Parts: sequence; structure tokens; C-alpha cells
Amino acid sequence: MSYVDEIISQVTEKNPAEPEFHQAVREVLDSIRPVIEKNEEKFRKDALLERLTNPERQIKFRVPWVDDNGNVQVNTGYRVQFNSAIGPYKGGLRLHPSVNLGIIKFLGFEQIFKNSLTGLPIGGGKGGSDFDPKGKSDREIMAFCQSFMTELCKYIGADTDVPAGDIGTGAREIGFMFGQYKRLRGVFEGVLTGKGLSFGGSLARTEATGYGLLYIVDELLRSHTYSIEGKTVVVSGAGNVAIYAIEKAQQLGAKVVTCSDSTGWVYDPEGIDVAALKEIKEVKRARLTEYKNYRPNSEYHEGRGVWQIKADIALPCATQNELGIEDAKALVANKVIVVAEGANMPTTEEATKYLQDNGVFFIPGKAANAGGVATSALEMSQNSERLSWSFEEVDKQLKGIMEGIYHNIDDAAKRYGYEDNFVVGANIAGFEKVLDAMNAQGIV
Ligand code: NDP
Repeated sequence: MSYVDEIISQVTEKNPAEPEFHQAVREVLDSIRPVIEKNEEKFRKDALLERLTNPERQIKFRVPWVDDNGNVQVNTGYRVQFNSAIGPYKGGLRLHPSVNLGIIKFLGFEQIFKNSLTGLPIGGGKGGSDFDPKGKSDREIMAFCQSFMTELCKYIGADTDVPAGDIGTGAREIGFMFGQYKRLRGVFEGVLTGKGLSFGGSLARTEATGYGLLYIVDELLRSHTYSIEGKTVVVSGAGNVAIYAIEKAQQLGAKVVTCSDSTGWVYDPEGIDVAALKEIKEVKRARLTEYKNYRPNSEYHEGRGVWQIKADIALPCATQNELGIEDAKALVANKVIVVAEGANMPTTEEATKYLQDNGVFFIPGKAANAGGVATSALEMSQNSERLSWSFEEVDKQLKGIMEGIYHNIDDAAKRYGYEDNFVVGANIAGFEKVLDAMNAQGIV
């Protein structure tokens, strides 16, 4: 059995009931096969893939807090510090009832290669909790965040591990966590990113993942003699990534006709009204059913359905495994040109393969949504310098980073004979730098 296959089955056996982690490992190891096979004996001897797929450290802890009725609630907190070969661990904190160790491990594993692709010195990690922020009062959110940070603060720091936001963790949660860290540790340092602008946050961080997604799509299209102008786009999600992806797509002259949340989706043939969407989701924290009040000509549907709408570009920006094989078939039948992942692993393996086999340009999340973590790293730089850069400066750097990622993954794919396969390109390009750093640092 080849070394790669041996490790894939070992990971599946040793980490039972973690299907998302198995999926992420399979996808990465499958695509770095050509690199491993070049030097299989040495890598096997060094147990390189065993070290790559075992987190350096995983922390699981109790998070007790008191709700508004005076009852004690108990959640589980996680931080997986996966790989620090190229820099301090970096990756978001997800607050969602679906969170478990396997999900955090899949996200942390992906984060290693994504962070490497940014070209910035950040290692891979991820954390979160099965706490559900939906329907909680501000006081309950604060109580949870303070309790969560009371334990987490023992393991993180500006030079060791710098968490950020993710699903369910926005500016409000980061603020509460930062306040508690400062209070317990007695230091004001850049230990979290996604902070408010008045206490060390970076301009353009809020917009970064969505904007970055469009910068890489635009670069891909221009490199293949297409233009984004006048293209129709379908987006899923209505959170941080989706909102700013829609905003930038429209700024670049495309028309975005859908968005969705966890209960339903909107079709607005005249183009999504971003101001209305921001008010519904960022200010009122309400459901998308409200969108019709702002745009009477739009349609609201319960359930899922955005991928059935005809479009040139599809941007899944909600959550993992939200675009399956039937969706991929509908997109191909409708002649989609590009699918780029704003969310982490939103496309199933089967759907990814179908899209690629049918000539669709597919950019995986670790490249397409790396703008968020790249800008987080720029926030770390600003914190270290004790300076704040202008919006234009950060946005310009973000654009440069995303264009650089595109050419980096395109080159890697071509070098190994997989032209236009950006999954292989992203995994190889991300892996090569981590491999180099791991080799140089000995058996650790
Ligand atoms: P948000 O919490 O802001 O938004 C998530 C959106 O997806 C919401 O519209 C939510 O619906 C919807 N959603 C969440 N879970 C489900 C589900 N199980 N089924 C259907 N819809 C769902 O998160 P973000 O926008 O920050 O993150 C979205 C994705 O992008 C995640 O995969 C995240 O890991 C990834 N990502 C985020 C980055 C960032 O900078 N924020 C950076 C890189 C990746 P509802 O409104 O009903 O909750």
C-alpha cells in the first residue's frame, strides 16, 4: 500500500466518528501524492504524514455559564493547535451547536495549508464551542465568552496562538473575549484578530474574506480572457463572508441574484440589495424572510435552492457540505464558469469532482477564502507595530495577496501536470512551504 493510502486509512481508523476530518485529510493527501511519491521512503522514515495529520496539541474544556433565568448551562470548548511550523497558530473560533472535535480538526487541518498560501508567517489552528449564540441576550453572550476565555487564555498569546472569528463569532464576541483575556492576563496585546477598530482591529478585516474571494475570482477570469463585468452570480449564506462577497461582486460590475440563511433563500432577479441585507443580518440579526419587505419583487423560498438558479459564477459562502452532487449537476447544466468556495469545504468531494470533470474552474476554500486570515495576519502586524493602516492600504495588500495566491496555485498545478486543477495546485503550494519548514526544524 502506498504511504498516502496507509495514512488515509490510519487517520480514519484512529479518529472514529470524525467524517469531516477524514474528508479533509483525504482531499489534501490525495492531491499531494505526486510530491510524496517523489521521495516516499524518506517521508515514511521521517513519519512526515503522521506528524502532519496529528495535531501538535488539542485542548477540550468545560464552559459553565449562567443564563438569564439563573440556570447553569454547560458547553464544551475546543482549541486544536495543529501545526506551528511556519508561525504561531492562527484560525477562528466557531460557535455553533454542530461543533465537535472532528469539525474543529477538519478546520484546523485545512487552516495549515490556507495560512501557508497567504505567504505570511502563520501556523494552523482552530477552536470553538457547541454553544449556540442564536436567541441569546447580550448578557448571556458575555457570560459565555468570559467563561470560554477564562480557560482558553492559558493556551493562547500574541506570539503563540492568535484566534479570530468564524461562524457565530463576530465583533461582539471577540470584544467580550478580548476584554476577559486582558483582565485575566493583565496584558494588552494582539491575542485575537477581528477586534473593534477602537482597540486594535484592522480596517477592511470585516470585508476581507468576501472581498478576497472576488479578487481571486477576478484574477482567474482575467487570466483566462474572461471579464467579471456583466456576469450573473449566485451566492449562498447571508453572513460575514456572503455579504461582502456580494458587495464586491457588485462593485466589480457583476449581478448577484441570490443569498440564503439556515432556513431559506432569496432570489432577487434585479440584484441583491446589500444595504437591506446588512440591515437585516448585521443590525436586526433577523431572518431572510424580512428581505421581501425591502424588495417586494424578490422571492423567498424555504429550504435550499440557490444552486438551481442559472449563473456564470457560484460562490458557496455558508457552511461545509452545502453543495452536493445534484447541485453540481444543476450548475453544470446551467453552464456555470467558476465555482469558488467562500466557506470552508462547502462542496462535497463528489460534487467537486463532477464540476472539475465538466470543465468548471473550481477554487477551493483554502485559496479562495484565505483573504480573511491574511488580513488577520495584517492586523497582527499592525498590533506589533502599534500602528493602524488605512482602509486603502489594507485593501491593496489584500488584493495583492489574493492575486499572488492565484498565480501560486496555478503555477503549482502546472508544475505537476494538473493545469487548471486548483485543488491540486492549492494543496501542493500550501504543503510545499510547510514541508520545507518541518524538514528544517527536525523531528518535532
Ligand atoms: P456567519 O455566521 O457570519 O454566516 C454564516 C451564514 O451561513 C449565515 O447566513 C448562516 O445562516 C448560514 N449557515 C450557517 N450554518 C448553516 C447550515 N448548517 N445550513 C445552512 N446555512 C447555514 O459566518 P461567516 O460568514 O463568517 O462564515 C461562513 C463560512 O465561511 C464558514 O464556513 C467559515 O468557516 C468560512 N470562513 C469565514 C471567514 C471569515 O473571515 N468570516 C474566513 C474564512 C472562511 P443564519 O443567518 O441563519 O445563521
